Amino acid sequence: MQLLDGKKTADDIKNEIAAEVQSIKAAGGKVPHLAAVIVGSNGASLTYVGSKVKSCQQIGFDSTLVALPETITEAELLDKIKELNEDDNLDGFIVQLPLPKHINEEKILMAIDPDKDVDGFHPTNFGKMALDMETFIPATPFGIMQLLERYKVETAGKHTVVIGRSHIVGRPMSILMSRKGNPGDSTVTLTHSRTKDLAEFTKNADIIITALGVPEFLKGDMVKDGVVIIDVGITRVDDASHPKGYVIKGDVDFAEVSKKSSFITPVPGGVGPMTIAMLLQNTLLARKIRSRK
Ligand code: NAD
Repeated sequence: MQLLDGKKTADDIKNEIAAEVQSIKAAGGKVPHLAAVIVGSNGASLTYVGSKVKSCQQIGFDSTLVALPETITEAELLDKIKELNEDDNLDGFIVQLPLPKHINEEKILMAIDPDKDVDGFHPTNFGKMALDMETFIPATPFGIMQLLERYKVETAGKHTVVIGRSHIVGRPMSILMSRKGNPGDSTVTLTHSRTKDLAEFTKNADIIITALGVPEFLKGDMVKDGVVIIDVGITRVDDASHPKGYVIKGDVDFAEVSKKSSFITPVPGGVGPMTIAMLLQNTLLARKIRSRK
């Protein structure tokens, strides 16, 4: 069994990006600039946005944090998006989800200029991804593709089972694994909460990507020997014995499944750390595309 080390791979990618930033600077070019919009004061969202901005600083990007009050109206937020779309100094921006209930998320995401949509959530970019065109690939699936590529996990002709069909992980993952190329060229089964006899699919899978958010859902008797496991799940589970009062669990029963797997991502330290690295990669791509114009 080999661990797919997301922390180390993410650090490698950040170092590569930092080196590119240095050469952009040395050539007198403009460094990438990412803005992150956060509405309200949700603790987890503030942590996520904080680490995105911190990572920008570490690798030499310019970054802007746009913190807006919980009470902002949808119209005011749309005005802010328009302003960011038109800001020539900015290469890309993200709007941290979830948004307060009185704001229509879809409306906000649709208002982002696809050329600055470094989260890759806009239908234009999602469509381009499905059509194999150059675009921003949603960061978590992009990170998984990088792990598979850098650890030389064979995917061609393999049966990949994805569990979960969310727009940000499961659905794009199923598209990416079925695309032509490496990683890709897989035969993909996309499963979800209405799938019958899920274990019949997972037992026959060469690669399983779990993105459902149910702690330790995938058990040892649901997989075959030699399986490759990508665990996207991150769930806080109460644990009084831990100083924080909780522990982070993935969707995979690691103790059981790791014994049968050829490659497996740990939680934490697997897919999670890759997400920010790929957001930075997308921002670098946004800068490169803009500099070509
Ligand atoms: P979601 O919560 O939007 O949807 C869950 C999906 O799982 C649905 O499509 C549902 O059909 C499926 N599902 C639920 N129960 C199921 C069951 N019993 N059997 C089969 N399918 C079932 O999904 P999401 O936003 O992709 O999040 C999934 C998990 O991944 C969460 O734990 C989330 O925290 C985590 N996540 C991690 C990262 C990261 O590592 N950076 C990024 C995004 C999400």
